[in-house]
Amino acid sequence: MDLSLTPEQEAFRATVRSWLKTNIPREWKSTGSSELPRAEQYGFLRRWQRTLFEAGFIGLTWPKEYGGGGLTFMEELILQQEMALAKAPPILNVLGVGMGGPTIIAWGSEEQKKRYPAKILSCEEIWCQGYSEPNSGSDLTSLQTRAVKDGDHYVINGQKVWTSLAHIADWMMLLARTDPSAPKHKGITYFLLDMHAPGVTVKPLKQITGDAEFNEVYFDNVRVHESQILGGLNNGWAVGLTTLMYERLALGFGLQVRLRIALDGLVDLARRSTKNGVPATRDPLMRQKLAQMWIDTEVFKYTGARAITKLLKGELPGPEASSGKMMWVEGHQRVQEMAMELQGPYAQLMSGSRWAVENGLWQYGFLRSRANSIEGGTTEIQKNIIGERVLGLPKG
Ligand SMILES: Cc1cc2nc3c(=O)[nH]c(=O)nc-3n(C[C@H](O)[C@H](O)[C@H](O)COP(=O)(O)OP(=O)(O)OC[C@H]3O[C@@H](n4cnc5c(N)ncnc54)[C@H](O)[C@@H]3O)c2cc1C
Repeated sequence: MDLSLTPEQEAFRATVRSWLKTNIPREWKSTGSSELPRAEQYGFLRRWQRTLFEAGFIGLTWPKEYGGGGLTFMEELILQQEMALAKAPPILNVLGVGMGGPTIIAWGSEEQKKRYPAKILSCEEIWCQGYSEPNSGSDLTSLQTRAVKDGDHYVINGQKVWTSLAHIADWMMLLARTDPSAPKHKGITYFLLDMHAPGVTVKPLKQITGDAEFNEVYFDNVRVHESQILGGLNNGWAVGLTTLMYERLALGFGLQVRLRIALDGLVDLARRSTKNGVPATRDPLMRQKLAQMWIDTEVFKYTGARAITKLLKGELPGPEASSGKMMWVEGHQRVQEMAMELQGPYAQLMSGSRWAVENGLWQYGFLRSRANSIEGGTTEIQKNIIGERVLGLPKG
């Protein structure tokens, strides 16, 4: 792992830093509690992503001809680090930028690569991920949504669930079964599905936070042209795994930045809180906890840097990327739990109460963080991957 920067990369860091200083909108106030797109922020975050796109600070590693920056993962790392330092807002099209675009660039026809990635980066078109179904989550190969050929179209019937951002999405990365007689993972195809097509119904699901961030999606005879297949008929499992690999990469890569922002916010909160009559930052137990979290965040950062070294050498992230997901989950849930501990009895007050600390943003972050150990593959599944594919243990 070589983290020394070239003069060009140092110059790039300086450019990003000064750009962020003048371009983060004044109305954005980061507490560090939760940096996820929330319903009332959609308009603001769409505009912010557009600003990043126009400045060339999104999709740095995507090829230039498809709207990206044609740069390396080192510049991406620098950008993410500077975003953390500046407490920049998140982007809105997280699934499109983190997964959809890279998968289309990896598997798409020239026509698909010209059509979709740039609009993903500019946030003109929002994407969602249609993988999970009511009876198919961890074991994705059991998915039941069917796509049946009818002339030069496929007719889709079935249901997806927990589909994040489907209520504002224009496109879906859809996995559907095209050959029910083939072994489970062989008869699946990856479609680029227009969410505005007739027969698509989206029903929001309210979460513990009160937000309806994910949805049920129903397909009732939805017609999709065969040119919307990505990566070939019945090849959806291989294409879908590319998306999951980028999901893991995004988790290990971008989320160490988000964890750092959350931790900085927590340290600020500790400075302003008292414990036994003194600032919480003077309490020996609290200090130890904060120091341990800082150490864990640094370990996470360098684990991410190791993954980047692999990418810079042209290798793909392997199963060990699952450890990044676990570090994020454990680190982030601990930060949120400590924020509740620091607030003492005030931790019970959500936004809307005049006594709520920082208008209940930490409460939102705490409740939302419970989902971290489920979304993007549960903790048990990550442990299975590490056990079987990294450590070579026998299958459980
Ligand atoms: C906030 C949030 C957002 C999401 N967004 C999306 C999205 O945008 N698109 C999408 O497609 N999906 C999304 N999901 C769904 C998510 O991917 C699934 O919830 C997850 O994969 C688990 O599947 P499941 O809920 O069916 O649980 P199950 O697979 O039924 O698992 C139930 C329990 O059994 C355990 N388990 C299952 N199999 C094993 C095993 N082999 N060994 C040990 N333990 C096992 C699991 O760890 C879990 O504790 C989202 C979920 C959440 C919480």
